[in-house]
Amino acid sequence: SKKLVWFRQDLRVKDNPALHHAAKSGEVICVYIEAKKQREQHHEARAKVGLIYDSLLLLREDLNKLNIPLHIMTCDYFDEQRALIKELIKDKDADALFFNNEYPINELERDRGVEKELGADGIDVNRFHGDMALEPNQVKNKQGDPYRVFTPYKKAWIEVHKTAPIEPISIPDKQNANIGEQITEDFSQDYRQDLWPPGEQAALERVDKFLDKVDQYKSKRDIPSVAGTSCISPYLAIGAISSKQCIHALLNHYDGEEQKLYGNTWFSELVWREFYRQVLIDNPQLTKHKPFNTDAKEVWVDNQEAFDAWKEGKTGFPIIDAAMRQLNQTGWMHNRLRMNAAMFLNKLCLVDWRSGERYFMETLIDGDFASNNGGWQWCSSTGADGAPYFRIMSPLSQSQRFDPEGEFIRKLVPELKDLDKKSIHNPSSEQRQEAGYPEPIIDYKESRKRALELLG
Ligand code: FAD
Repeated sequence: SKKLVWFRQDLRVKDNPALHHAAKSGEVICVYIEAKKQREQHHEARAKVGLIYDSLLLLREDLNKLNIPLHIMTCDYFDEQRALIKELIKDKDADALFFNNEYPINELERDRGVEKELGADGIDVNRFHGDMALEPNQVKNKQGDPYRVFTPYKKAWIEVHKTAPIEPISIPDKQNANIGEQITEDFSQDYRQDLWPPGEQAALERVDKFLDKVDQYKSKRDIPSVAGTSCISPYLAIGAISSKQCIHALLNHYDGEEQKLYGNTWFSELVWREFYRQVLIDNPQLTKHKPFNTDAKEVWVDNQEAFDAWKEGKTGFPIIDAAMRQLNQTGWMHNRLRMNAAMFLNKLCLVDWRSGERYFMETLIDGDFASNNGGWQWCSSTGADGAPYFRIMSPLSQSQRFDPEGEFIRKLVPELKDLDKKSIHNPSSEQRQEAGYPEPIIDYKESRKRALELLG
């Protein structure tokens, strides 16, 4: 009998538990259903949708090599996905559904509904965890409570990993079946394919290449003018690769020496991803725009002008503008700059972090609810293990420290490209006028003082 695999945020054949287990129990057919309006409601970027669509076409090629078909369908909202799944199961005479879990609340509710409704029809619904390297809830403190702070979470994560090492799951065997006709409903979107080639293979190659320079990650990861990070986030966001595969590849790079893995900074960042997912699972209220710390001070003001200047990369702070233009032009922003841009908007301009969170989501090709919400709440000091309220990054000193030659600014803010490495971080009024570059929209010292008074 046939098994239906429902692809969602797991667009890969390798290390895909739902696909693997379905193939073990029968003939597999696959479906992906893009809920277009739902995605708009979640404010996700067109770039991300573009990467998803193109990656699906490649996923289909990989599946077809195993004689497994993939139907690519569209609808408006999650509710309709349920009806389409039911129809497909009936049409194809399948008796079981397989999928990997997603953790934001709308997705969880949808899946509970699917499970209930199909279960009532006698369809076997099988759910797996494919999105985290360790299963959710494996990492809890001694009382069985969730961690609220990263460092002890990571320590506990390592302890679990030591006793239960992770091993990516193999691809399914080739089936003895006819692919037949496959539904294709086009929802392609333009995005920077030159920067983000689609598909699982591209993701695996990216990690492979990055591992050659992983030992320089610690020293280079904070310099935005250098390609010092992996740029794997868009692929993790759509599941073209799993965090388990990344961690496993790093362990292999160290010939299986666990101590080297645990001491590695890139590993630590991947565990941050796990941490924010676990925080989301334990705190579903986060998806309802609630701060993690319910007693956090929320003193935000309506400042549309500042918000617009920030979005457009016209704040008059070169490093912030370079960051925002990188985001607008490529769909990605360097992590050091995400922190700076977020603190600038939230603490210095006092714009609600939720507005920034939403704009990031609308623009990022790696937009991911758990990491984005975690990042914004960290910066605004409302989050799990967030920065202390008095931590406010100074755009000028951060710029001088992390872009000392002004190389990054020169590339992204070309009107300032002729300035010397000293003045490029904070041009004089004359230089600004000549370059057609705006005056700073805020006074840093005043704004910092105001934030400290209001937040303290
Ligand atoms: P690398 O430095 O190579 O790290 C490898 C992987 O580790 C990343 O791909 C990511 O999956 C994970 N990781 C690294 N840093 C973090 C972190 N701070 N939190 C969680 N996971 C991390 N990341 C997203 O994937 N999607 C988002 O929507 C997102 N929004 C953010 C918003 C703000 C305000 C901040 C401060 C951070 C945000 N991040 C987000 C986290 C981080 O900036 C990106 O994951 C990282 O820049 C991606 O680049 P990379 O793949 O080269 O990372």
